[in-house]
Amino acid sequence: MLQLIKGFKDILPEEARVWRHIESTAAGIFADFGFSEIRPPVMEKAALFQKSIGEHTDIVEKEMYTFADRTGDMITLRPEATASVVRAYIQHKLYAGDPVQKLFTIGPMFRRERPQKGRYRQFHQINAEALGISAPYIDAQLILMLMTLLDRLLINDANLHLNSLGCRECRPDFKSALVGFLKSKQSALCADCVRRMDRNPLRVLDCKVEGCRNATADAPAMTDFLCNDCRDHFNAVIALLDGLGLAYDIDKRMVRGLDYYTRTTFEVQTGKLGAQSAIAGGGRYDELVNMLGGPDQPAIGFAIGLERLAEIVAQEEAVPATGGVDLFIAALGEKSREKAFAWMCELNKSGFCAEMAFEDRSLKSQMKMANRLSAAHALIVGDAELESGQAQLRNMATKDQQEIAISNLAETIKQMLNNNK
Ligand code: AMP
Repeated sequence: MLQLIKGFKDILPEEARVWRHIESTAAGIFADFGFSEIRPPVMEKAALFQKSIGEHTDIVEKEMYTFADRTGDMITLRPEATASVVRAYIQHKLYAGDPVQKLFTIGPMFRRERPQKGRYRQFHQINAEALGISAPYIDAQLILMLMTLLDRLLINDANLHLNSLGCRECRPDFKSALVGFLKSKQSALCADCVRRMDRNPLRVLDCKVEGCRNATADAPAMTDFLCNDCRDHFNAVIALLDGLGLAYDIDKRMVRGLDYYTRTTFEVQTGKLGAQSAIAGGGRYDELVNMLGGPDQPAIGFAIGLERLAEIVAQEEAVPATGGVDLFIAALGEKSREKAFAWMCELNKSGFCAEMAFEDRSLKSQMKMANRLSAAHALIVGDAELESGQAQLRNMATKDQQEIAISNLAETIKQMLNNNK
């Protein structure tokens, strides 16, 4: 049998219910915070990601699904959404009327990582991006929006980690101090980190290998190298978060995996996911819009991992039960089935969930089906009922049974269900 591709995943109905709950909760909260939805495509020119994410990042070096299409153009299945949102902002001149655009998008991303629990090759993110604002207020509002969503989803151990990665003025000094430090510890670092040291030294700081973590415990921190503007910005964000009553840890190791980040960076972790503990991450990317050919506009955003979030939400039982089946029609004999079908369709069209057995089944097996579907009511109709013009309606919870006239039955049922709502 043909199976799905390694690292890919089916979202089965039970889980999809949780996803839908998360997505609609997010869309509602984001609207309250003034964010509008945008839906960029899942494929882009490979160059967009090479340029934005950075040539020497894990994503671009090892993880992108890039291929030549039939005319030889290099195409990539997007590994993240920020670059696409920025491209759309520039391409459609969304900045023309008002440079401030607060956008969100939800959809699949693709990275050819080593598959494991909580890490997939197609995964989904909820992204929020605020373009055109440099004031620290937006950093705080965006973080508040993220924490509000997690709170609304009853994630009670979300830990906010905060750092600043400075800007093109101050980061080079930090980088050279860090490289100097790493050189002095080279013999204690893993082979990957030795390789990273020259190409992407910041990444050494978030290596998970125990030896590397010990060796870099006293590594220089970016926050000690911030220029005046970056320092003021960072302090202002911290003061705003304090004012909002949001708890955070300053995490000097948190460097994020993409080159475009500047200034404020953050990650949210939870203890409920084992090794893959990050549910969301984000930060400022003040230089990206300009770097991709747009105006000099600052921006900040975040991405939440839907698979990981759904896993916790499912544990938390924060998902309201779905409406369920209003009426199951148990029909005996072909004539009754024809009637049942017409009533069912009428109810379905009118916004009620009605079900029936499409094949010839015994009454016992149909009632079992009604129970399995947790139907609120069951209507029982056979030749005798058609003859007498009265069918039996059973309340499945109380087991009370009443007679109900067959003529105009759909209308009577609709009225009854409406009264019960
Ligand atoms: P990133 O875009 O790498 O900053 O990731 C943001 C969030 O997306 C992470 O915190 C994870 O929750 C989620 N994520 C990233 N990569 C994967 C993956 N391969 N599988 C599942 N979730 C992922």
